[in-house]
Formats: sequence, structure tokens, C-alpha cells
Amino acid sequence: MRIALVGIGKIALDQHVPALAASPDWELAATVSRHGRVDGVEAFTDIEAMLAARPDIEAVSLCLPPVPRFEAAQAVLAAGRHLMLEKPPGATLAEVHILRDMAQAAGVTLFATWHSRMARGVGPAQRWLAGRRVTGGRIIWREDVRRWHPGQDWIFDAGGMGVFDPGINALSILTAILPAPVRLLGAELDVPANRQAPIAARLSLSDGITADFDFRQQGPQTWDIELATDGGKLALRMGGNLLELDGRPALGEDSIAGEYPALYARMAELVRSAAQDVDLAPMVLVADAFTLGRRFFGPPFEF
Ligand code: NAP
Repeated sequence: MRIALVGIGKIALDQHVPALAASPDWELAATVSRHGRVDGVEAFTDIEAMLAARPDIEAVSLCLPPVPRFEAAQAVLAAGRHLMLEKPPGATLAEVHILRDMAQAAGVTLFATWHSRMARGVGPAQRWLAGRRVTGGRIIWREDVRRWHPGQDWIFDAGGMGVFDPGINALSILTAILPAPVRLLGAELDVPANRQAPIAARLSLSDGITADFDFRQQGPQTWDIELATDGGKLALRMGGNLLELDGRPALGEDSIAGEYPALYARMAELVRSAAQDVDLAPMVLVADAFTLGRRFFGPPFEF
């Protein structure tokens, strides 16, 4: 199947292009980006022009930041093409509800991806937790924004989500593995004086779970989830790629396809079965943190 990639920036070049090149299901047939290009692939700068010129392209994958994404998404669905969204799936929940209704009405697939859910420890963790009761836990998600998002000023604008851009990956794993729904009880958001979105956040969630998100981490980076249950302890480290049960490594040395190859395989499966996959649970927790969170304004931040 032919697919177009929109928003040729960091994640498109780091992950989407290699995953598509290796995919048995997809051929990267066009790009849409004002500056970005992929060698050997037809390049457009306007999405409407691409959709009009290439009726043979049946699916479009959007790698734009969340705020400019909705109009492009609407154009794709209005043109009757299948649509895949980078996380977070929109700037607001209402946008994604509208897109889901549009996709259903048009009879095309909408896949709101959560790449961290494809990390290799997530499925085993979900199976281990089924039938156990979570009694407490903590998420520590600390990374260096200058290393992973160099110069991306949009991330600190309204709608850019700040530290929730990576933090929502942890919440996407948590909401996938917990045996029961989780809700936000309270939040503290540290916002640089010259920015709109938080550089750090501390969340309090039901089941005694806390989260510590920080964009200022120097040296080793931390993407850990630790949970206590009535039947032992579980830890997911390295963004869900290492699993420990009661302190011992619990994954074999199986070969791994990787998160983005798994996303494109899932997209192919959804298209073939005319299905949707749109789970907003991680984004609801982030929206609730912005609703309930207490703001603390701190020193200005520059890249
Ligand atoms: P990025 O490097 O800034 O790339 C996004 C691209 O979108 C830009 O290069 C730009 O290309 C295009 N664009 C169109 N309108 C834009 C606007 N108003 N502001 C900024 N860019 C605009 O961002 P990214 O890191 O690839 O992230 C894109 C999405 O992927 C985000 O939702 C992010 O959460 C997600 N993601 C990122 C990572 C990561 O490690 N960076 C990992 C997983 C997921 P043109 O100028 O050529 O149009």
C-alpha cells in the first residue's frame, strides 16, 4: 500500500522513514513538508496539492506537532484516505473526537498511535498485571529536552504540552498495562517564566501512583515505571523495553522489530480489517493535569 508522510522533521527522519523502508506492507510514495525532504521520494509542500495529485496514495501518516495537525488530518479524511497520527493525536480532545467521527462516516481507518505501547515489555507487563491489584507505584520520566527536542520551540508553546510530550508516553504505557482505569487526583506544573508549557510536572494518580516528569535531566536519562501489587513488584525501564518482575529481568533475548515497525504493521492490519484504533486515555490524564494542576513559575528557559 502506498503512504505519504507529512511533517518531515526529527521523528519522521529518525523513525518513520526507516520503518517504512523496511516494511513489507508500505511504500513511502510522497512527502509533504515546507522544508523537509526524503531522497528519491516525490515531495510536496501542500497537503491538498498532494491529495489531488496522488489519488493512488491510500494512507497518510502525520508527523506534524499537535497544534498544526488537525487541518491536515481533516483534509486527509475528507479525501477518503486512511490516517495515522503521531502521539499525542491532537492539540485537544475535541479535535480527535471529530476526526474519529469523520473516519467512521467515511469508512476509513484512523490510528492514533502511541509508540511506547509497542515497547517490548509492555505486552508481558499487561499480562502479568491482569488479575493483580495495584497498591502503589511511581513513574520517573526524566530526559534532556535539548538532546531529544533540539530547538523545538513549539513544544513550550500553548498546545505543545511541554514535558508532557514525553510524559504522555509513560501514561500511554500505564493506561495500557493497568488492570483497572486510572484517574488524576492532582498535579504540580513548573512553567518557565518565558514559556506557556511546563518543563517539569509531578502528578498524583489513583491507586497510590505518582509521576515525576522532568525535561532538565543531564547525564543518564530515566524512563521508568515501578508498580507494587498484591502479588509482587513490577518495573518497566528504558521506556518499556526492559521488564523486571520482583527485581529480576523477565524478558528473553528475543529479536525485536522496534516500536515504529510495529506501528506500521498495526496500521496495515487496521486498514485490511477496516478498523479504528483511537484510545484517548493517556491524553485525558494530561488534559486533567492542565485542568487541576497548580502552576509554579520558575526561571526562563532557552534552548
Ligand atoms: P519536529 O522535528 O519539529 O518536526 C515536525 C515537522 O512538522 C517540522 O519539521 C515541520 O516541517 C513541520 N511543521 C508544520 N507545521 C509546523 C509548525 N507550526 N511548527 C513546527 N513544525 C511544523 O518535531 P518532531 O520531534 O518530529 O515531533 C513531531 C511529532 O512527533 C510530535 O507530536 C512529537 O510528540 C512526536 N514524536 C517526537 C519524538 C522525538 O523524539 N522527537 C518521538 C516520538 C514522537 P516543515 O517545516 O518542513 O513543514
